[in-house]
Amino acid sequence: MNASKRHEIFSRLAAANPHPTTELEYSTPFELLVAVALSAQSTDKGVNLATRRLFPVANTPEAIHALGEDCLADFIKTIGLYKSKAQHIIAACRMLIDLHDSQVPHDRAALEALPGVGRKTANVILNTAFGEPTMAVDTHIFRVANRIGLAPGKTVLAVEKKLLKHIPREFLVDAHHWLILHGRYICQARKPKCGECIIADLCEYKEKTWPAPATPATPRKAAVVSTRPATPSPLPSLASGAKGKRKAQID
Ligand code: SF4
Repeated sequence: MNASKRHEIFSRLAAANPHPTTELEYSTPFELLVAVALSAQSTDKGVNLATRRLFPVANTPEAIHALGEDCLADFIKTIGLYKSKAQHIIAACRMLIDLHDSQVPHDRAALEALPGVGRKTANVILNTAFGEPTMAVDTHIFRVANRIGLAPGKTVLAVEKKLLKHIPREFLVDAHHWLILHGRYICQARKPKCGECIIADLCEYKEKTWPAPATPATPRKAAVVSTRPATPSPLPSLASGAKGKRKAQID
């Protein structure tokens, strides 16, 4: 894909959604860290349901650490892998308290040193909480980047590096959200909605799926309207003959 196509893709995504953001609900970097840690292999909607219960009770490293693993697990038990996530979050709270003055560090290495925090989570925090031009490649971004020819790559890291290299600088901070939302709602895994896609003419995917063309409406057979009164015919043989004639006209 050439540079002018890439620029046009992001110009259109930006025009359609000038202020994209995560669908995870949070009000502080720490809440975002917890929400992102919970979101692995879970939907944002599912995470929001759990954090709406958790955050009013505990939304700081001290408060969540004080809950303990079992109590935290109880708040998030509707989420997949909740036991190991609870374990990691409690351990991360301990590190934040001990090493970072209970603040989420604005530093990749420090973030990735936290239990349960990998490169993708660190990228989300750096981008969404701190406005860094990072690219957290999740399943949606990996698929879209490969499918449409934007940044083909065999591994998540290869796609991340290509996106960072090729996305025009002015779009880089928001590109992560535009691509996630595009993959989640339009360029979906099993059946992309190419008919609704605002970048369809720029996309290089060869197997686009278009809505089935509307079939012309089958003309309805004209109803026979009789002007005669609906009285039974006194002549059965004549009546059946007339009926046969009328049927022939309809067919
Ligand atoms: S045209 Fe289809 S395959 Fe291409 S980006 Fe749009 S939805 Fe995805």
